[in-house]
Amino acid sequence: MEICEIFYSVQGEGAFIGRPMIFIRTTGCNIFCSFCDSRYSWEKGKKMSIESIMKEIKKFKCKNVCVTGGEALLQKDIYKLIETLGEKDYAVFLETNGSIKLKETDTIINVVCSPKIVNGKFKVKIREDMVDCWKFVIKTEDDVKKAIEVYEDVADKEQIWLMPQATSREEYLEIAPKVWEWAKKYGVMFSPREHIVLFGQKRMV
Ligand code: SF4
Repeated sequence: MEICEIFYSVQGEGAFIGRPMIFIRTTGCNIFCSFCDSRYSWEKGKKMSIESIMKEIKKFKCKNVCVTGGEALLQKDIYKLIETLGEKDYAVFLETNGSIKLKETDTIINVVCSPKIVNGKFKVKIREDMVDCWKFVIKTEDDVKKAIEVYEDVADKEQIWLMPQATSREEYLEIAPKVWEWAKKYGVMFSPREHIVLFGQKRMV
């Protein structure tokens, strides 16, 4: 598998915010968003076997693993990794942009899908009932309206999260109060990005 980074931290966004977690970030994405806060994951990563990944994460005293990217489902061996994590009693959280079908698996306990607009439409192939949280990166109220328009019939309002689009603390502090107000207005969830507030663009925190 091609891995961008593996590190231990605290989940900084979404429904599991505050939870200590190991992050396995794979290399490569199939959507190249202009606002991507992990562009470095587009570059060439390190080839690692499942065995070496398991050895690496064993260093951390934590049983929660977030599999993320880039787009983790692009990796050929991703299900093998997920199954191995499950066999070793890790709780697996998956983050995906939803543009690739997710196979049935009992191992993943939570799927967060963050759909992106490509050519004017959300590029989503994941089965909607397999998603626990829909997380949208928001810059304008128009972004909120687009998300609500498509997803209000698909998900409960508690499953729809609005997350400020920001790659720096300054940008975050400027946009977050607006997103907060839009979450109130539309009755959906607000997701902070605590790692950006605390550490800005620093990686592996
Ligand atoms: S889908 Fe996610 S990881 Fe891929 S480019 Fe967009 S923001 Fe970055």
